[in-house]
Amino acid sequence: MAKAKTPKYVYFFGGKKAEGKADMKSLLGGKGANLAEMVNIGLPVPAGFTITTEVCTYYYANKRKYPKELKDQVLKSLAKVEKEMGAKFGDKKNPLLVSVRSGARASMPGMMDTILNLGLNDTTVQALIEKTNNPRFAYDSYRRFVAMYGDVVLGLRPVDKHDADPFEEILDKKKEARGITKDTDLTADDLKELVAEFKAAIKEKLGVNFPENPMDQLWGAVGAVFSSWMNERAIVYRKLNNIPAEWGTAVNIQSMVFGNMGEDSGTGVAFTRDPASGENVFYGEYLFNAQGEDVVAGIRTPLPIAHLKKDDPKVYKELDDIRKKLEKHYKDMMDIEFTIQQGKLWMLQCRVGKRTGFAAIKMAVDMVRQKLITKEDALMRIEPNQLNQLLRPIFDLKEKQNAINEGRLLAKGLNAGPGAASGKVAFSAHDAELMAAKGDKVILVRIETSPEDIKGMNASDGILTARGGMTSHAALVARQMGKVCVAGCGTLNINYKAGEMRAEGTDHVIKEGDYISIDGTTGEVIKGELTTKPSEVIQVLITKEMDAKDSDVYKTYADLMKWADQTRTMNVRTNADQPDQSANAIAFGAEGIGLCRTEHMFFGEKRILNVREMILSDTEEGRRKTINKLLPYQRQDFEGIFRVMKGRPVTVRTLDPPLHEFLPHEESEIKETADALGVPVEKVKEKIESLHEFNPMLGFRGCRLGISFPEITEMQARAIFEAAVNVAKEGIKVKPEIMIPLVGHVNELKLQEEIVRRVAKEVFAEKGKKVSYLVGTMIELPRAAVTADQIAEVAEFFSFGTNDLTQTTFGLSRDDAGKFLPKYVEQDILPKDPFESLDQDGVGELVKMGTEKGRSTRKDLKVGICGEHGGEPDSVEFCHRVGMNYVSCSPFRVPIARLAAARAALRDKKVVKKTTKRKTATKSKKKK
Ligand code: PEP
Ligand code: MG
Repeated sequence: MAKAKTPKYVYFFGGKKAEGKADMKSLLGGKGANLAEMVNIGLPVPAGFTITTEVCTYYYANKRKYPKELKDQVLKSLAKVEKEMGAKFGDKKNPLLVSVRSGARASMPGMMDTILNLGLNDTTVQALIEKTNNPRFAYDSYRRFVAMYGDVVLGLRPVDKHDADPFEEILDKKKEARGITKDTDLTADDLKELVAEFKAAIKEKLGVNFPENPMDQLWGAVGAVFSSWMNERAIVYRKLNNIPAEWGTAVNIQSMVFGNMGEDSGTGVAFTRDPASGENVFYGEYLFNAQGEDVVAGIRTPLPIAHLKKDDPKVYKELDDIRKKLEKHYKDMMDIEFTIQQGKLWMLQCRVGKRTGFAAIKMAVDMVRQKLITKEDALMRIEPNQLNQLLRPIFDLKEKQNAINEGRLLAKGLNAGPGAASGKVAFSAHDAELMAAKGDKVILVRIETSPEDIKGMNASDGILTARGGMTSHAALVARQMGKVCVAGCGTLNINYKAGEMRAEGTDHVIKEGDYISIDGTTGEVIKGELTTKPSEVIQVLITKEMDAKDSDVYKTYADLMKWADQTRTMNVRTNADQPDQSANAIAFGAEGIGLCRTEHMFFGEKRILNVREMILSDTEEGRRKTINKLLPYQRQDFEGIFRVMKGRPVTVRTLDPPLHEFLPHEESEIKETADALGVPVEKVKEKIESLHEFNPMLGFRGCRLGISFPEITEMQARAIFEAAVNVAKEGIKVKPEIMIPLVGHVNELKLQEEIVRRVAKEVFAEKGKKVSYLVGTMIELPRAAVTADQIAEVAEFFSFGTNDLTQTTFGLSRDDAGKFLPKYVEQDILPKDPFESLDQDGVGELVKMGTEKGRSTRKDLKVGICGEHGGEPDSVEFCHRVGMNYVSCSPFRVPIARLAAARAALRDKKVVKKTTKRKTATKSKKKK
C-alpha cells in the first residue's frame, strides 16, 4: 500500500520562487497567496512562509491544538528563510526578526492581530545594535515589540472605552518626565528603560514573565493570530461582510525589514489608482523613518506619494514600475504596502484594493476602455448595490457655499468616502448606535476609529475623524461600507469627556447631538444641517439639470448600463403608480411597469372622500353611484401612465388593501368625513367597527374585495380600458395587463377575469376601437403556487408577489416582524431578512414550483416578480435562474436590477460552459 502523503501545512516564499501562488487564497489566505505571487513575478519580497488556513480549521476542531506535522514544517521553512536572508532566528550575532500576521481568504483590515519585530530579547537586541550601529532604532523596535506582544498575545490592553492603553500610559509618563512631546525625541536609554518598564507592567498586572525565548515568542504569536479569528470584532466584521467562519485564517511569518532605520528608510501604503474616485493616478502615502503601523494607525500624518518623486526619485521610479507591473498582472487596482530599508525597496503586501462603489464602477469601465479587462469582467466586478454610490445625493453647492461664506466651515479633512451626509454628532460608536436606533441621522465623530467601532460606524450616515490618512481604519472601513467619510481632520479638537468638539481658528463649539454636514467628496466639514441634491446621474437622467456630455460620471454609468443590457436576458420593469414615477423609471432603463398599485391613486385629496363615500354605502346601487365618481380620476391617471410608457407593457393591479385602510381613524378626521358626506359620525364609527379585522393582511382584501363588490373591479377595468383606447386613439401604443391580487383558487380568478373581459368588450364597442390586453394574476399565496397549473388555465401571466408570499409562507406578519426578525438574523437563525432578500430555500421553492407548474399548462406564460425582492441583487439572480421573464422594482433600483440580471446571465453562461465541458469529459472517458 502506498504511504499516505504528509499534508503540507507550510508554504515558503522568497528569493525567486515561492511554493504558493495567487490562486491559492483559500489555503494561504489573500495575503499569503499574493506574497507568493509577488515573488513569482519578480518583485522584491522579504522571505517568509505561510501556515495554511487548514491549520486554523484543525486548531478549532481539535481543542486549539496543532497538527503534529506542523512543527517540523515550520522549522524547515524557517531554515530556508534564514538562508535566504542571511540571518538566524534567535542568533546572538546576526538575529533574524520576523513579523507574524493573520491573512484570511477575504481581507479583513485591522480585524485580527499582527506582531512585528518578533525574535527580539535582551540578547538579540545587542546584536541588532552592533549590526546597525543604531541603539535607538534597536530599542525602539524592542519596545514596540514588547508592547504589541503584551497586548496581542498576553492580553494587557484597555478594558473599556474610558481606559487608557497601559503601554501608552507608561510611554506618556516617560515623555512627561523628560519634558518632551514627540516619541521621536526619546533617547535610546529612554527606550531601553521603557522595555524594562513594559515588561514589569506585564509581570505586575498579568503575573507572567515576558517570554525571552524567540521560539516561545513565535508559537505564542501564531496561537494569538489563530485565536483572533474568533475575537468579537472579527466575528462582527465577518457577519457584516458575509464571510463564513469556516474559512479560517492563515498565518504569515515574514522577515522584518525596517522603515525606521534612519532618513533613508521609510514605509508606505499605496493604491495603483485612487480608491475613492477611481481616477487612474498613483495614490498613496508614506512616512520616512517609520514603521507600517504608524501609517495605518494614523499616529503621524503621512506625505502623499507624489512627494516621494522628489524625496527619492530612484525608489519612486521603481515603485511606479511595480505599480504598472501589478496592474498588468492582476488586471485590477491593487493595494500595496512597502518599506524602504536604507534605500532598498521591499514589497510587504499586495492585494486587490478596496474601493468605493463610485471608484469600482469608474475603474472597471476605464479598464475596459484600456483593454485591460473585458466588458464581462467589468460587469462581474461591480456589486450591483455599489451603483447606489453613483446615484447618491450631493450637497446643494450654493447652499454649501453660503454656509461657508457665513463662516460655518469648521475644517477640511481628507475626502475618504464620497457623498454628502448631514446628521447629529455622536462621539462614540455606542452612542451612534443608540441615536440611529431612535431614527436620527448620525455623524460619528472620533479622534480615530478602531475595529471595535464598526457597529457604530455601520449605524451612522457619515464618519468624521481628526487623525489618520486615506488608509487609516476609518477611511478603509467607511469606503467598504459605502459611508460618507472625512478623515484626518487635524484641526478639530475632540474632547470625549466634555462631549464637544472645537474647530481650531474658529469660535465654533459642537456638542453631542448638534447637526453637522460632511462632504466626503471634498473633505469639508460644515456646521449645521445642509440639504442634499441628487447625484450627477440623477441630474442628467431625472432632474435634467445637467447635460449628459458634461458629466463623466454619467458617461461611465451609461457605458456600464449599455453593457449590462447587451448581456442580460431578463427584462427589468418598475413598480410605479404615477406618470412622473414612470418617467423616472424609464430614464433608469425600465422596460415596463410590473406593478401599478391602483390604491395609491385613491388617496388624493378629493378622491379619498369618494372612496370613503363608497365604503359607507350600504347598497350596491349606492356604491355604484359613488364609485363612478372615481372613474374619471383613475382614467386620467392611467392615461398619463400609458402616454409616458409609450407601448411598454403596463401591469395594473385591481384594488388590494383591506378597506379599513381608507377610513379615517382620528376623532377629528372622522367628524370631518361625516360632515363632508352628510352622514352621522356614528355611522362612520359603525363602519370602522364593522371593517375591523384581527388579521387584516389575511382578511378582506385582494380579489376578495372584487368578488364581494364586483362594481369596484368593473369601475377599475373600465378606467383602464377607456384610458387605453383614448391613448391608442392619440396614436400612442398601449399594452395593458390587468392583474388580480391575492388569488388562492382558480375560481376566484375566473370570476374576476369574467368581469374584466366583459367590461373590455363593452368599452371597445362603445369607443369603436379595440386594444389587445392580458389578464393575469399575482402569485402571492402558497396555495396559488401549489395550484399554479390550474390557475394558468385562466391567467395569461403570473407576477410573484413575494412580499405577501414571504409573509404567508413563513406565517410572519410583514408589518410586525420587525420586532423580532433582526434578532433572527443576528443569531443566524435566518441568514438574511427574508423580506429584504428572497428566502430561496423556502419561498423560492414555491416560486420555482409556481413557475414550472404554470408553464406546464401554458408554455409561453409570462412570469415576473413585483415584490420588493425584484430590486435586490441576490433575489434578481434567483429570478433569472428560475426562468422569469422580468423583475420589477422601484425606479431607483432599476439600474441595480439591470446589472444583477446581467451578472446572472453571465454566471449562467459559465455554468452552461462548465456543464458542457464536464459532459464532454465524461463522454471521452466512456469512449476509452
Ligand atoms: C407583494 O405582495 O409582493 C406585492 C407586490 O404586493 P403588495 O406589497 O402591494 O402587497
Ligand atoms: Mg401583495
